[in-house]
Amino acid sequence: MNSAQILERLVGFPTVSRDSNLPLIEYVREFLAACGTDSRLYLDVDGRKANLYASIGPAEQPGILLSGHTDVVPVDGQAWSSAPFELRQRNAQLYARGAADMKGFLACALRAARRAAGMTLRMPLQLAFSYDEEVGCLGVRSLIDDMARWSQRPRFCIVGEPTLLRPAVGHKGKTAFRAVCRGRAAHSANPERGVNAIHMAADLIERIRARQERIAQSGARDGAYEVPYTTLHVGVIHGGTVLNIVPSRCELEFEFRNIPGDDPAVLVGELRGDVATVARSSADSTGPAAAGTGIDLQIEHDYPALDTPADADVVELAAALTGHRQRIKVGYGSEAGLFSARLGIPTVVCGPGSIDQAHKPDEFIAVDQLQACDAMMDALLERLL
Ligand SMILES: [Zn+2]
Repeated sequence: MNSAQILERLVGFPTVSRDSNLPLIEYVREFLAACGTDSRLYLDVDGRKANLYASIGPAEQPGILLSGHTDVVPVDGQAWSSAPFELRQRNAQLYARGAADMKGFLACALRAARRAAGMTLRMPLQLAFSYDEEVGCLGVRSLIDDMARWSQRPRFCIVGEPTLLRPAVGHKGKTAFRAVCRGRAAHSANPERGVNAIHMAADLIERIRARQERIAQSGARDGAYEVPYTTLHVGVIHGGTVLNIVPSRCELEFEFRNIPGDDPAVLVGELRGDVATVARSSADSTGPAAAGTGIDLQIEHDYPALDTPADADVVELAAALTGHRQRIKVGYGSEAGLFSARLGIPTVVCGPGSIDQAHKPDEFIAVDQLQACDAMMDALLERLL
């Protein structure tokens, strides 16, 4: 099987993040078993999803880890020209959900693993296939926690998010919040007797937007990013029941995506300050009715930024393997920040296909990108001999 044929099998598993990825993981486990390679699975608490780790070559040596996610974003409400979970070739492009993001890379990694199994390697080739990346790099954490206890960790990590095979040395970090504004219900004819939770939420949103404005004007900048500063935005708001009741509850979900130069802990502290200020001024302006009102702020998930030096060995390796000398930084996040910041493994993001096609209807990967990724993997195997 070539990588396109493996890709055809992988996209046939509709591994949308909310659903199980176990059929795909089982396919990969059997694929590797047929090459004589054992896999280690890391099941989630419900046993519905799993990460897979495998290593081919001398176990006592640190290896090169190829990391990627098995989950894909939903196709709901998207107008696809063909069935999204069946690989279709049109012209020189292969269409399916996940073709670019990022089952194309996984297919090339599996082809490389099968080749590696027939070789006598000096350094191992290692695979980490994770779940729940698209919902905040959640799944890979059980593998990372385990790796933190290993005496022998991978020497380098390549995360195969689509970069058109250009080495990406940086991505932003992300922190996602949920804020629950707790007001007090009252008849809307006498709003003074209540505390309006939607108004509290609106005050908080205003502060978040003012903070964004200040950062955009005068915050830290990194011109290598398309948006060269840390961004904040509110993505979800739910509040109120009917018009004639002062709303007692309003929920917000918001996030920031920080450039590596901005410390997320500082920004989290400032946002906690904003929340406290809004809650206090709401209480001050309402008097006795304010008892029991407030804002609960929770961090839903976060991951660190990736900030690999442009001249790091892992970057030189990716540049040499792909022939792409230019270093880029990408706006989207990945588990690369976790491998780098939590485990100290030098990490680069470098994978086939373009992020422009990801998450969209008629997602595709160009055939020549898949072939170029195979060539990158073959060059990598040469170095592991
Ligand atoms: Zn991805």
